[in-house]
Amino acid sequence: MIGRFLSELRGRRIVGVRTKEGKVLVPPLEYDPATGEPVTGEFVEVGPAGTVTTWAFVPEPGAGHPLDRPFAWALIKLDGADTALVHAVDAGDPKRLRAGMRVWPVWNDHPTGQITDISCFVPEVTDIVANVRTEYRLQAGGALRVFLEGIERGVFLGGRCDTCAKVYVPYRLTCPECGNAIPETLELPDTGTITTFAINNLPDPRAPEVPFVSAYILLDGSDIPVIALIGDVPAHEVRQGMRVRAVWVPEPERTASMANIRWFAPTGEPDVEQP
Ligand SMILES: [Zn+2]
Repeated sequence: MIGRFLSELRGRRIVGVRTKEGKVLVPPLEYDPATGEPVTGEFVEVGPAGTVTTWAFVPEPGAGHPLDRPFAWALIKLDGADTALVHAVDAGDPKRLRAGMRVWPVWNDHPTGQITDISCFVPEVTDIVANVRTEYRLQAGGALRVFLEGIERGVFLGGRCDTCAKVYVPYRLTCPECGNAIPETLELPDTGTITTFAINNLPDPRAPEVPFVSAYILLDGSDIPVIALIGDVPAHEVRQGMRVRAVWVPEPERTASMANIRWFAPTGEPDVEQP
């Protein structure tokens, strides 16, 4: 029994044996300690993670101990096992130890078929703190490149689906509704109607002031609104149905970028009834 257990450790597997009553003993024994009956001989892989059921802290490890720093001897019930295995838990601060603590084995680099093939168990990592900063450079593909080249010229390019007649802006190669290809671009005016908006109170370097308004604008002739900033009007005066026009940066400053549009500003036309 114990030979099989140790041999499996060499392959970084932990096995138990099933009793006649269906319990899994880890480490495996010849006889079920509860009934005295011989076990079945069926080996079952368990763990490798488990749960600490109880422990004894060792503040000053001795020469024969598996670790040279304070650790705990613990009873660890591996996942799938019905009995607990004694092993060392390297949890650092003893205050971290508690019953129910989830632990994972740390394997020896060169397993040889001994219980020390598992160097110790360590607390399961459930979260990490990582201060990550990422910058994205979006590479415009076919349709988006065409659209941005239009923006560089001061034109919104959309596309009409031949089948359902919906007009999409920005230009896209296929209709998301019926899946048909959209072969041609369609120039749309830079005027539209605010369909919905939000007043934002957090500063944004692109915004004219704080608070500022971001809105969905249905460009004239299109069926899908675009999101943009609203400027040249106090935030509290912005409303649904308000007519707006894009405010472009001067031509020499334009690039193939949405930064060409500062924001949309009211045209002064009467509001449009909401559909
Ligand atoms: Zn369509």
